[in-house]
Parts: sequence; C-alpha cells; structure tokens
Amino acid sequence: MRVAVLKEDHCQPKKCNDECQTFCPPVRNGQECIIMDEKTGKPHISESLCIGCGICINKCPHDALIIEQLPSELETDMIHRYSMNGFRLFRLPTPSKESVVGILGPNGMGKSTAINALSGRMVPNLGDWLNKDADWEDIIESLPRGELRDFFISVEKGDIKVALKPQNVDRLPKKIKGTVRDLLSRVDERGIFEEMTKELAIDHLLDRTVQQLSGGELQRMAICATLLRDVDVYFFDEPSSYLDIHERMRIVRIIQKLAETKRVIVIEHDLAVLDVLADLVHIVYGKKGAFGIFTPARTTRQAINTYLDGFLPEQNVRIRDKPIKFLNHSDRVSELGSEVVSWGGLSKKLGEFQLTTGEGAVHRSEVVGVVGPNGTGKSTMIKILAGEHGYDEGWVTEDATISYKPQHIDVDMDCSVQLWLDSEIGPKWRVGEYNVNVIRALGVDELLPKRVKKLSGGERQAVAIAICLGREADLYLLDEPSAHLDANARMEAAKAIRRTMEANEKSAFVIDHDVYFIDIVSDSLLVFEGEGGIHGKAEGPFKLREGMNRFLEGVNVTFRRDHDSKRPRINKLESRKDREQRGVGDFYSFDH
Ligand code: ADP
Ligand code: SF4
Repeated sequence: MRVAVLKEDHCQPKKCNDECQTFCPPVRNGQECIIMDEKTGKPHISESLCIGCGICINKCPHDALIIEQLPSELETDMIHRYSMNGFRLFRLPTPSKESVVGILGPNGMGKSTAINALSGRMVPNLGDWLNKDADWEDIIESLPRGELRDFFISVEKGDIKVALKPQNVDRLPKKIKGTVRDLLSRVDERGIFEEMTKELAIDHLLDRTVQQLSGGELQRMAICATLLRDVDVYFFDEPSSYLDIHERMRIVRIIQKLAETKRVIVIEHDLAVLDVLADLVHIVYGKKGAFGIFTPARTTRQAINTYLDGFLPEQNVRIRDKPIKFLNHSDRVSELGSEVVSWGGLSKKLGEFQLTTGEGAVHRSEVVGVVGPNGTGKSTMIKILAGEHGYDEGWVTEDATISYKPQHIDVDMDCSVQLWLDSEIGPKWRVGEYNVNVIRALGVDELLPKRVKKLSGGERQAVAIAICLGREADLYLLDEPSAHLDANARMEAAKAIRRTMEANEKSAFVIDHDVYFIDIVSDSLLVFEGEGGIHGKAEGPFKLREGMNRFLEGVNVTFRRDHDSKRPRINKLESRKDREQRGVGDFYSFDH
C-alpha cells in the first residue's frame, strides 16, 4: 500500500507551476494520477495510480509531498485518516487500569490524534475520510475483544472523562488570565487543592498571575490543574520539560500514586524518567506528517532498549540507522585544549538571591554540562562569564564572546525558517560541515519553507539550537536544549553540539536536566547546589565521574546499568543496589 501525503502548510500553489502534475509520469501517459483542485489549486494524488517514482517529491519547489510505502500488514488497522492525502494513524495505545502507560516516539506521528480519539473528542473514521458521520459502533466492532474495546464501549456510553496536561506550558500565559489560585480553585473537583499545591511546591505562588511564572512553575501548575480534576483517564503530555531532576522525581511519585486508582497515559522524552515512571510503553513510529503506527505495549525496560537499539523485531522495522549507545566514560579521552575562560571566588547578589562559585576553567573543544536545581543561578553564572552581568567579588580572566540559546525561545517573526537562518547567520548554513552536522542532523533542512510562527515546540527548539551553534563566538551557552525535543532528536542535538565544538575548537556550556542527554553531551560537569531563588553555589567543572557523583548525591538518586543496553537506570530508593552503590559513593555506576 502506498501513501501520498500533501503537507498543507508547505504547498503554495500561487508560488509554483504545478510541477508535481506536469512531471508525473502517469499524468503524462494520460492517467489522472494528480488532479489540481479547482478551488485551492492544490494537488489531489491518487494512491492507486501513483507508481511511487518520487519525481513529484523532487520537482516540488516547496517540499510539500511525501510518497511512502506502508508495511503491508497494516492494511486493516487504520484508525483515522484526515483526508484523501492527509495523515493516517494505525492502531492505538491502550489506557490500562491502575497503570502508567507510556508513549515513546517522535512528535508528528499522531500522539495528539490518538489522545483525541481515546478521549472521545474525535470519532475515528477508520480511514473512510469521506464519512463525516463515523460512529463509535464501527470502531468498537473493528477492535478485537480486550481492554481497548471495553474502553471504547465506555467512551461510547459517555462514561469516560479525561483530563489533559498540554505539551506546551509556555503558551499558557497567552491563554489564561488571573492568579494561580483562581485557576486551580476552579478545577479542584477532588478537593485536594491544599495537599497538591504543597506537594508540587507551588503553594507559595498562589497569588502570582500566570504571566509571572517561570517555565518550571508553569509546568507544575499545569500538572496540578490536571491532578485536581476528577476523571477516569489522565494524559500528561511531556510533564518533565523545564523541571529539574528533583522535581522530575517528585512528579514520578505523584503520577504513580494517581495510577493506583486511575488510568494514566504519559508522553515523555526523558528516557530515565519514562523508565522509572511507566509500567508499560507503546512505541510509536512511522513517517512524520504522513503516518504513525502504535506498537503493542511492551514492558518499559524492553521498549526503551528496543527504541535505543533502533530496530523493532516483531514489526521487522528499523526506526533509526544506528543504535544509541552509552559510552563507558573511561572511553571518552578528551585532551583538554587551552583555557578559554577561568574564574574564581565569584559572588553576585541579585535581589534576594546570592550566587557564589569556586574556582574553575573551561577549555577549547570542551563541552561542560551544567546541572543543579532550578533557581540556583546557572544562567546568571554563565552570563557573568560572558561579561553580560557584572559581579560583586572574585575574578574572571576575560570576556569571551558568547552565543546564547535562551530557555524560552520567543520569536514573533512572521517569516520562513530560511529567512530566519539567513538573517541570523548569513548564507553559511547552506554548505559545509555545519550544514551536514547541524542543519541536516537536526532536521532543520526539512523546515525551511515553514513559517516560524507555525513551528511546533520541538521544531522551534531545533532551529534555535542550529542558530546558536551557527554564530561566531568563543563560548556557546545552550539553556535547556532538550525541552520539547523527542528522545531521538535529543541524541542528535547532543552529537551536533559535540561535533561543532570539536570541529571549531570552541567551548560550550549546556544547561539541562535530562541525565541521558547530559551523559552524551558532556566532557565535564559544573555542579550547582543550593536553594532555588535564595542561594546557589557553583563547583567545578569536574570530570564527568566526579561531577555525576556529586550531583546525584545531592539529588539522592543512584543509577545502575542495564545489563543488555548498558544504559543507566534509576534504582528504587532503598533497594539492594541503591544501598550498595550509595555505600561506596558510586551514584552513576561508572564501572559497568
Ligand atoms: P503528534 O501529537 O504525535 O505530534 P498529531 O496527532 O498532532 O501528532 O499530528 C499528526 C499529523 O496529523 C500531523 O502531520 C498533522 O499535520 C496532522 N493533523 C493533525 N490534526 C489534523 C487535522 N485536524 N486535519 C488534518 N491533519 C491534521
Ligand atoms: Fe506521480 Fe506518484 Fe511519481 Fe509523484 S510519485 S510523480 S504522484 S507517480
């Protein structure tokens, strides 16, 4: 079975000469393989007449077409199709009783479509896109007996209520007015307002307006609002973005407690978090924007190992060219280059907040991972090194020029990604090592005609990382580059950052809370300790082993190594392994 998909937001019939139709071989042979719509001027592609030659893909000046072959066993499992040449979803995840069910995979493969179907907001059409009156009975009949079928029987009866924690919490301030208290008290259906606001450590923020909150505070407020609802299924779409690792561990405990009595579905790209949080995981794969396929649920350990390996054996499908591997850190011998900046005994007061530092230095070709609780002065410190902030005491060798990617990427530009790149870094993105290792590796080449305003969170992040790495500077500072990127894109971003620093002999500071990402990206670690908003102390950079041990001791978490994939896995608190490792101070299980 072939699918021909038109990317509606790429297709610009006023700015082309119908190249897809003109060059299509079946059309030239007199067949109606591509017909142009009289009203919109956009093509309708017949999948039965298309021979899959791919000529239209190459001829289209706006990269608006996808032609792909589907695995044949999928013919009967289509859940929804938006239009003739629209996105298709195959199979669904199953909300299971008393479990946290995880979804693992890239964005743009139908997770939101699936959530809309499971919540009853959209009646799936089983592929018959012309049928505007699709009903639940059809979908129930199409499913084999089992938990998913029973679930839809309840959906049909109207017995299922759902609550959703949306993905992009940074958009909330544009949508909601009023104080945190107003918002939360309105949705407190379970009468647990006091308890939850305390547990999520937002009880001191209740009288602030939503506009005054930081990313991590917005995230906790949104999670709280979802938990306060009294419903049957709770969806959490990327609950960990902007949260530090302490907060992530807290959310894990809260969501697991909720799942003792409710159904919970979580979309999470921080694999260490997904690993401890979920009981079962569905992998989703496919072709972005064209089709998405949910695999049956596996145990979390199996699903994550399979995902990292990049090959789904049951489906006989490769989802990535190469496996993602975790290095034994003694393997990473990086010769330190000359010093770029060094500092010592810095102190800086900002309002109520006090930052202090030890002595440290960063070298050419070195990537320093920056870890620690939110609000302990990570960005402030880097800005001091860049000469953007002054300091009250201490010394810094010189002001290095800096290229900065902030945590929140606020762009109000109404232009294409291509123009954005041109205006920020000139024409250099089109060629050379940067084009291969950054632009293509991050998938930015596929976004060029898209309007900046229409980019998803992950797409915007990828472009912002590319721009940051493309500017000329001595020091590169990336503040939470993993936010909104899927697990695969995180690994690609980590590699892009490393390669850029190695190739140009530059240095980078990468602030992030995803432990796998930090593991892959860092040569050394700058570790922050302290109390958010009150005081912070920066020590290091340390070698990775020493830094991780220091950092994780502060978080009170130990990791063991998976015996197959060698990936780090969070130990259960007070388990035998946890106690053993704690006893010898080996928090990250380096000697696997
Ligand atoms: P995810 O949640 O995994 O990012 P979505 O379910 O939002 O994926 O979207 C998958 C694809 O379906 C996207 O390419 C999107 O353009 C398309 N899509 C989503 N909603 C609609 C709609 N209402 N009409 C047509 N296409 C849609
Ligand atoms: Fe025509 Fe299909 Fe070839 Fe495109 S891929 S040019 S639609 S035959």
